Amino acid sequence: MKPAPFEYATPTTLDEAIALLATPGARVIAGGQSLLQDLRWRRTSASVLVDLARIDELRGVHDDGARVRIGARVRHVDLERGAVGGPLGRLLAATAGWIAHPPVRSRGTMVGSLCFAHPSSEWCGLAAGLDAAVELVSVRGRREVPVAEFLRDSFATTAAADELATAVLVPTLPDGTRVGVVESRRTHASYAHVAAVAARVPDGGSRLGLAGAAPTGTRAHAAEAALARGEDPGAAAAEHDADPREHPHASIPYTRHVAGVLVRRALQEAA
Ligand SMILES: Cc1cc2nc3c(=O)[nH]c(=O)nc-3n(C[C@H](O)[C@H](O)[C@H](O)COP(=O)(O)OP(=O)(O)OC[C@H]3O[C@@H](n4cnc5c(N)ncnc54)[C@H](O)[C@@H]3O)c2cc1C
Repeated sequence: MKPAPFEYATPTTLDEAIALLATPGARVIAGGQSLLQDLRWRRTSASVLVDLARIDELRGVHDDGARVRIGARVRHVDLERGAVGGPLGRLLAATAGWIAHPPVRSRGTMVGSLCFAHPSSEWCGLAAGLDAAVELVSVRGRREVPVAEFLRDSFATTAAADELATAVLVPTLPDGTRVGVVESRRTHASYAHVAAVAARVPDGGSRLGLAGAAPTGTRAHAAEAALARGEDPGAAAAEHDADPREHPHASIPYTRHVAGVLVRRALQEAA
């Protein structure tokens, strides 16, 4: 099927882009890796596509010591190749390597994944697990929204239609943090069934993120607390953190079970 007709704009500044996004029906296009499929299948439409490809302000990463700011044009492959340093960079690189396959990783963006809000998106699980925030800009101004609030439901965020996500702000991890990422998936061309992301911080306070175990990426609070008490984090994740929906290939109890197993494995990998 072909997409319904749309206009195409290539602004070179952020101000120009947000002015265009004030047009009813305007949509951002980042890597196009999810949006183009949706347009082609007419699951969505756009009056004008606002391409971010020429806006230099949205490029690159910036580490201020407390948080790493990852711009809206940073692609999965940039993170896979080590655009961010330290333990957080290792976690981002390990996570990126699980996403789809190289052609998708060379165009798709981390911020675009958060905006698309696929329930099994690795970036949604990681960003929720680390309490990251999304920066949103529109003609009304700039605001920062915690990822837990930003991800409203599967394929739904709390961003307004005219807001551009300029960056994701991810808290850095202390030196000595060890990281692990594991998934259950059928093929590399499909999304994960469940993914678990772990960061074991040296003096306690491990962080755990889950994707595919609930309608949105989630931080596994119960598993973190169980780990701190010396109890089984997998059992806590399966019982309390996972909140799965029925899946064509997996029942709800099975998805809960897998979430628990993957939390244990991600922690083992980090150990
Ligand atoms: C075969 C295949 C396999 C895949 N497997 C995986 C996988 O295993 N794991 C995974 O996480 N993803 C997977 N993906 C999706 C891929 O990671 C996309 O790159 C990701 O969804 C983000 O898309 P994008 O950056 O290309 O954004 P686009 O496709 O351009 O946009 C996606 C949506 O987000 C909106 N958007 C994008 N950027 C912004 C912004 N800055 N501000 C506001 N709105 C914005 C768009 O308007 C659109 O609604 C797969 C895709 C394909 C084609």
